[in-house]
Amino acid sequence: MKFFSTNLKAEPVSFSQALLKGQAPDRGLYMPEKIPLIPLQEIYRYARMPYYEIAYNIIRRFLEGEIGDQELFELVKDAYDYDVPLEHVCERKYIMRLDQGPTASFKDFAARMMGRLMQYYLKRENKKLLILTATSGDTGSAVANAFYGLDNIEIVVLFPRDEVTPRQRKQMTTLGKNVRILALDAKFDDCQALVKQAFSDPDLTHLPLSSANSINIGRLVPQTVYYFYAFAKLRDPGLVDRIVFSVPSGNFGDMMGGVLAMKMGLPVRKFVIATNANDEFPNYLCSGHYNKIEPSLNCISSAMNVGHPSNLARLVSLYGGVMDEKGVIHKPADLESMKKEIWAASISDTQTRETIAAAYLKYGTLLEPHGAVGWAGLMDYLQTMPESEAENQLCISLETAHPAKFPEEIEKILNIDPELPPSLEGIDHLQEHIIDIDNNYEAFKEYLLLTSNF
Ligand SMILES: *Cc1c(COP(=O)(O)O)cnc(C)c1O
Repeated sequence: MKFFSTNLKAEPVSFSQALLKGQAPDRGLYMPEKIPLIPLQEIYRYARMPYYEIAYNIIRRFLEGEIGDQELFELVKDAYDYDVPLEHVCERKYIMRLDQGPTASFKDFAARMMGRLMQYYLKRENKKLLILTATSGDTGSAVANAFYGLDNIEIVVLFPRDEVTPRQRKQMTTLGKNVRILALDAKFDDCQALVKQAFSDPDLTHLPLSSANSINIGRLVPQTVYYFYAFAKLRDPGLVDRIVFSVPSGNFGDMMGGVLAMKMGLPVRKFVIATNANDEFPNYLCSGHYNKIEPSLNCISSAMNVGHPSNLARLVSLYGGVMDEKGVIHKPADLESMKKEIWAASISDTQTRETIAAAYLKYGTLLEPHGAVGWAGLMDYLQTMPESEAENQLCISLETAHPAKFPEEIEKILNIDPELPPSLEGIDHLQEHIIDIDNNYEAFKEYLLLTSNF
């Protein structure tokens, strides 16, 4: 299977090349040339399989011939050694909790698989990688945890000292080994700029630099799996069921996994894409005009404060259009088909808080701000159909982080302190390893040259 660039100006590449490159040379994003189809009967059989076995059956279709079946099975089994709870809320409505991984965020699903696949290809080719990542919180910890202890990969994470919560910081700094964490007195954008400069510095070309950000195809493919899993486990075998998913969205990686699953044959009635006040996508779907939000708005669902979702180029491509990395549309997508399959809603902070309160008081369901945006988006969509139809509709809303990662809002609204999941317990007392560096490129470059032996 080959992967093409959404900008259409780069050569198609194999999965492993796309994985190790990240972004295409023409700054586009890699997409599969042909989307593999999964027969309905096979999807039904997933009902009796554990998560890792479903993941194996789906992911192998993208890696045709590039990795042995047995080896892939071992990698997948090792990556997905935690629960994926489907929590009943009311009628046929569920919350899928993607928060049981080591950093209690859905980003673990993608990062753990990507790390293991990279390690596999690097070992085979006897190569090493130095991953550089800037983080404002969740990405850095998921990536650091996913790559922790892998032999052929060194990882350096830069974070703005004052913009990361103590809990998020400790998820990165208490690891050690091949994970190095640099703290800067800077903003997230400054950290990001240092990383970008390093990638284009001719003095560093001898270092095998790579990134692990959300545009990597290695993160997208694993994010198709939980949609199949949820449908197979919850469908009514007596009905020809089609499901509604609601996905709280920022950079649209999670949602792209779902839309790809639908194109692979998952019977989906509608995808609800729920954003916070950063409503560039709902506006685009409605009007066909795309306007980024610059700078992005600060909302309480902070991991979704994105004014130009990097994965949108992939969605536009799936519907026959071309959008470049800056958000300029070179060929319009088929908006009518998109509207048939996708519903978009923008949820304000006020609605988010009201939803956290209502879900808990009415159903005993505990949501954090991101999951609440998803649930509110679902309620918004269900209003478009008659009540009796809405009642019978199978719906799953994604909860992308554990409530204990965002205790401040929950305490304010519900007056309870969410219990820590086992993966975060004890973390407050572990030793931290932090390297302080100055916020200037020369200091960062010197650090890389002195400490990296490749
Ligand atoms: C990253 C993140 C999101 C947004 O996911 P995208 O794939 O960027 O749309 C939502 N919720 C949480 C908790 C996240 O960390």
